[in-house]
Amino acid sequence: MTGVTIHLDEARWQEHLATVLADTPALVPVVKGHGYGFGLVRLAAESRRIGVDTIAVGMASEVGVVSGPFSGDVVVLQPYEPADNLARTLTKDPHVLTTVSRLDDLRGLAAQGHRPRVLVEVQTSMRRHGLLPEELGQAAALLDDVTFEGWSIHLPLRQESRDEEAGRLARAAVGARPGTLWLSHLPADHVRRLGEELGVPVRARVGTRLWLGDAKGRAVTATVLDVHPVRKGERAGYRGRVVPGAGWVVVVAGGTSHGVGLEAPTSASTWRQRATALATGSLGAAGRALSPFTLDGRKRWFLEPPHMQSSQVFLPAGATPPAVGDEVPVELRLTIATPDAVIMGPTRG
Ligand SMILES: *Cc1c(COP(=O)(O)O)cnc(C)c1O
Repeated sequence: MTGVTIHLDEARWQEHLATVLADTPALVPVVKGHGYGFGLVRLAAESRRIGVDTIAVGMASEVGVVSGPFSGDVVVLQPYEPADNLARTLTKDPHVLTTVSRLDDLRGLAAQGHRPRVLVEVQTSMRRHGLLPEELGQAAALLDDVTFEGWSIHLPLRQESRDEEAGRLARAAVGARPGTLWLSHLPADHVRRLGEELGVPVRARVGTRLWLGDAKGRAVTATVLDVHPVRKGERAGYRGRVVPGAGWVVVVAGGTSHGVGLEAPTSASTWRQRATALATGSLGAAGRALSPFTLDGRKRWFLEPPHMQSSQVFLPAGATPPAVGDEVPVELRLTIATPDAVIMGPTRG
């Protein structure tokens, strides 16, 4: 297989999933987007294997993808939008829980008469979606005309006041109407405590920590597609830039479509780092970015920004060049990267 590959130690991964499942109150795996690098179908199947009754997808269009491998309930996290035909249709699906974030939308759903299953989102300091605390009373009055499944609270990732905020919003919501609390980005013990304090069921939605929490259980590699010796002063790449010196231009699988280059290049992402690069005369000073590919033991510089499906990386003379077909380590954040394949087996790279 040529491309960007995740090598996943499956036994270890499944052990990690079991640990998170056991530690988390009523875990709701989040299975959305590019599937955390693994794909929606694989994660939906894995959710079925670990035995959860509910998963969460990001968008209405993802329900159809997961509902083959997973036959339980599916929460749609992106709030209901009445102009979206698919979202409207899904409100009639007995396995779908629709998230509602505006009073008008809740009114519309309550008036439909078929009592769709809904979660009502409470707005947090993220200011993304949801009802304000002062709207909760009005919402509560509409809940008899839908199948009310609970309150959804999506907390910001890092914040000193997060725990206080979670408690305050949960109390306001349950005060308006008792219901299950569906919480994101709150530690498991706090989720549990909130449920005990307020006397309602709680559910914790987890994506990254569940699927990607065990970084040592996987490795990501890229295939070397070509290796070209270059002399000082020669030019290469789309832009025909002069190569940094004698050595090799190594063409490696992995480009913008895989998420290569989506991360801030570590060499020069801050002014201080840029100044350091300037002082040391490194390639960062010449506007080059450090690539995520490791060749002969070190991360190497991009020759130019990554292409769509491959990258040109400069390897200076003195290093040992790879052979075409070699798999080299590539550091990618799987929350944003999309590999070509996942191989189950011992990790490499
Ligand atoms: C994406 C998402 C999650 C999962 O986030 P992770 O950081 O991957 O765990 C949880 N809740 C909501 C509402 C989301 O949109």
